Amino acid sequence: MFWADKIVNDIEKKLKGKDLLVIRDEKTASGRMLISAMRGAVIHGILAEIFSEKGVPNEFLWEINDTDAFRSVPQNLKEEQYKEYLGMPLYALPSPGEGAENYPEFFAKEFTEVMNHMGFTPTYYRASIAYKEGKFNETIKTALENAELIREIYKKVSGSEKPADWLPLFVVCEKCGKVGTTKTVSFDGEKVKYTCEKDIVVWAEGCGHEGEVSPFDGNATLPWKVEWAAKFKVFNVDVEGGGKDLSTKGGARDVSNHIAREVFNHRPPFDIPYEFFLADGKKMSTSKGNAPAAFDIVSVLPSHIYRLVFLSKNYKQAIEFNLKGDTVPTLFDTYDRIAEKYWSDTKDDFTRLFELIHAPEERTAIPERFLPRFSQIAFLVQMSHMNVEDEVEKIKGEPLTEEDRKELENRMYYASRWLTEYAPEEFKFELQLDSVPENAKQFSDEQKKLLTKVREYIQTKDSLDGQELHTTLHEIRKSSDIDPKEFFSAVYLSFLGKESGPKAGWFLSVLDREFLEKRLLEVTK
Ligand SMILES: [Zn+2]
Repeated sequence: MFWADKIVNDIEKKLKGKDLLVIRDEKTASGRMLISAMRGAVIHGILAEIFSEKGVPNEFLWEINDTDAFRSVPQNLKEEQYKEYLGMPLYALPSPGEGAENYPEFFAKEFTEVMNHMGFTPTYYRASIAYKEGKFNETIKTALENAELIREIYKKVSGSEKPADWLPLFVVCEKCGKVGTTKTVSFDGEKVKYTCEKDIVVWAEGCGHEGEVSPFDGNATLPWKVEWAAKFKVFNVDVEGGGKDLSTKGGARDVSNHIAREVFNHRPPFDIPYEFFLADGKKMSTSKGNAPAAFDIVSVLPSHIYRLVFLSKNYKQAIEFNLKGDTVPTLFDTYDRIAEKYWSDTKDDFTRLFELIHAPEERTAIPERFLPRFSQIAFLVQMSHMNVEDEVEKIKGEPLTEEDRKELENRMYYASRWLTEYAPEEFKFELQLDSVPENAKQFSDEQKKLLTKVREYIQTKDSLDGQELHTTLHEIRKSSDIDPKEFFSAVYLSFLGKESGPKAGWFLSVLDREFLEKRLLEVTK
């Protein structure tokens, strides 16, 4: 059974009889979202889709967390412009660009565009608005009244010891607006007393103000692990996974689960502790420079390929991803392979994967169509004198259908994007039409002899078939002692000035006939 279907079955067994299943996830809008952060989004999104497919009423909630304190200025923003906001809640920061009313909205917009591209449609809400609307009031009161119990849970579960006077609340300082610098001193049932401390954290400086204010309706926020438990209760969450690093024994999730049960009297949601999303074996981070932004990938991967990156691996396996080398053509090849299985009426985990990488509205009728290899399209779009559609029709061996043409257009678009943004040099080609490339002028006698044989063979043919030519090239090569690389590099050097290129037989078959024969003669002189 496909891994996501299995999770759904497990959840159904555990949560039988719920009227509406609530699936929740969140992202702190502290900066651009890395592609690695999409793993949770995709896992929750696909579960919601499968529940809907089975007719189980559900709601997929996505929180834009905009109440956390601003702790560091991201590298792509001006330090000078933003350092005065360190310690303030994110919603108090100005937008770094046009089209958004504040800082978290700016990054939330990018995120929702990624989700739209992938076909996921959660219900979005802002943490700050939920606080302001009073949704957290009850849990804030309960947390303050049970501060001692919360301190005990921290100690018992994670070994972390809080001072005996510590209260689980961060007030937004009425004087300087910072939330990361305040310490709550007392609670009388209606108001809290607090101080704004100069050096309680290293990343921000408080103003020294001492005040008294209601902790409700957005004047304060709960500390992370208490807040997480409060969210389980406030939104009545049934399903919420998280990175496996959070779900270790004594980790954040463990603490939050205890607080949910023992303080808020609420059953914690079904957990899905998923594995890491890595680049070169390391966790992705903006500072390591090994992590593309989720938004930047939208322009190089169509929705179903983007989904494939995340869904092809069980949540218990790490995903290795980088945009270097042949990652993108390989993803398309994988798509083509599972498509072939799907259209041959096989039913297994691969064909289920194929269904699920298409958004629900496409899933019911995925049109069977010709899938030209991505690497070939990437080559053809670089050959300005060629008509790509004609060449693809030749590869297919029959006229293209409407669906074939749509697919081709799509692949041409993404191949061009890939070539501009990420493709390594070995995939970039320029046909050397004007003259024999410099590095094709020193062929050995043996190389020349074989290239002459190629020309002679071509002259006997009215039209060239890529596959047939491919076989012939290998036969010609075998008629000599020459090493394959020496022979094929001569073929590519003659036309591209490079030692490698696309599949040789097909490559020669798509070249202009007159040019092909003329060049083969020139390089063998
Ligand atoms: Zn202050």
